[in-house]
Amino acid sequence: MTGQHPPRYAGGPCFTCGRPWPCFERQVASLVEFAGMGDLLVAYMGDWYRLGVEERRRRGLPFDPELEARHLGWLDMVLPARGEQRGGDG
Ligand SMILES: [Zn+2]
Repeated sequence: MTGQHPPRYAGGPCFTCGRPWPCFERQVASLVEFAGMGDLLVAYMGDWYRLGVEERRRRGLPFDPELEARHLGWLDMVLPARGEQRGGDG
């Protein structure tokens, strides 16, 4: 599992490098960890995004307009192109 660059708390900064989470290093690590499992990565980041919105609200932090793009905006690169036909031997 990805042991490096965990979030300090959902919706907060990276514990390791202090940048908004998921930081670039974590995004790259996640792409490696979930290679070939784009659907799972999207579900995983979707959970973190939802938790992040809730946690920021609970902590009284302002809404972060970058939160969604940071969690989900870069995931289209791991998903198959829209309209692509699924293979026959699945
Ligand atoms: Zn980091």
